[in-house]
Amino acid sequence: MRILVIEDEIKMARAIRRGVEQGSYAVDVAADGDAGLRAALARDPDAVILDLMLPGLDGFEVVRELRSRGRWMPILVLTARDAVADRIQGLDGGADDYLVKPFAFGELLARLRALLRRDVRERPSELVVGDVVLDPAAHRVTRGGRPVALSTKEFALLEFMMRRPGLGLSRDRSLEHVWDYDYGGASNVVDVYVGYLRRKLEQPFGKPLIRTVRGVGYSLEPA
Ligand code: CA
Repeated sequence: MRILVIEDEIKMARAIRRGVEQGSYAVDVAADGDAGLRAALARDPDAVILDLMLPGLDGFEVVRELRSRGRWMPILVLTARDAVADRIQGLDGGADDYLVKPFAFGELLARLRALLRRDVRERPSELVVGDVVLDPAAHRVTRGGRPVALSTKEFALLEFMMRRPGLGLSRDRSLEHVWDYDYGGASNVVDVYVGYLRRKLEQPFGKPLIRTVRGVGYSLEPA
C-alpha cells in the first residue's frame, strides 16, 4: 500500500510519514497542493492524507481536481480544530474522512486502515443508454466502447437527455436545463447542438441516437 501525504509544514509532514510508515505503508510526501496533485495523478496512491491549508492549490481544490479527473482513492483530510465549515466543505467536496489537528498517530492509522478496508471506490454511477455510456464525474462518453470527445455544452445536453431516455424533450426544457437561462424561444441553439451530437455520436457509428419528435423536440433512442 502506498500513501501520499500532502502537507506543507515540514515537521508535521515528517511526523505523519513516521507514523504511517509504522503501519508498514510506503509513504510519499508532497509539500504543496500543486506537487501533491501531480504526485497523486502520476502515482495513483492507495490513499491520500491531505492537509486543507496549503500554499498554491489548497486542499479543497486538490480533492475537487482528483475527483473531477475520475480518481477515487480514499482521501483523509486534516483540518484545524474548530474549522467545522472546512470539514463539511471537505467532505462535500469528495473527501472520505477527516481528522482534527492535533491528533494521535494511533488514530490516524486507524482511520487510514478503515478507509483502505472500504476499498470499494464509490464512484458516482455511470449513465448507460443502449451502447452509449456517460460518466458524469470523469466527463467521459463512449459509444460501443469507443471514446467520443464532447464540448462542455454537448456533454451537458447529452447528460440531460440520457437522464430521460425515450422521452420527447422540448427545446425549451432542454434550454432551461443545459443553458440555465431563458433563451427566448427564437433561438435554434438546441437544434444546433443536437446537430453536433449527431455528427459525433451517430455518423461515425452509422447508427441513430437522437430522434426528432415533430412538434415537440428530441428523444434519445439509441438503435
Ligand atoms: Ca498547512
